[in-house]
Amino acid sequence: MEKMMQIYETLGIDVQERQLGSGINGACVGSRIPCVFVEARLDSEKKLRTLAHELGHAILHMSSEYDQPNAAASDIHKKEQEAECFADGIITLIGRIA
Ligand SMILES: [Zn+2]
Repeated sequence: MEKMMQIYETLGIDVQERQLGSGINGACVGSRIPCVFVEARLDSEKKLRTLAHELGHAILHMSSEYDQPNAAASDIHKKEQEAECFADGIITLIGRIA
């Protein structure tokens, strides 16, 4: 978790723990400078996974139309898959440098 927080800090992306409601583990908001919210009640493993996923959205998608209400469902699905791939990669990388 420490390495993940260092990455967020280096990139200047704010992380806030909140109670987000049922079924929502995290969210990435903003565009020029994204902010990530993570569900406070998650265990540390799920929190790490969520932060990795939301970092993917912050890096790959936040300058795009992702948050537009008229975004196509297929486009949203593709971006969720991209964020998951990014999360896999960064968690593996963090494991190697820990
Ligand atoms: Zn997502």
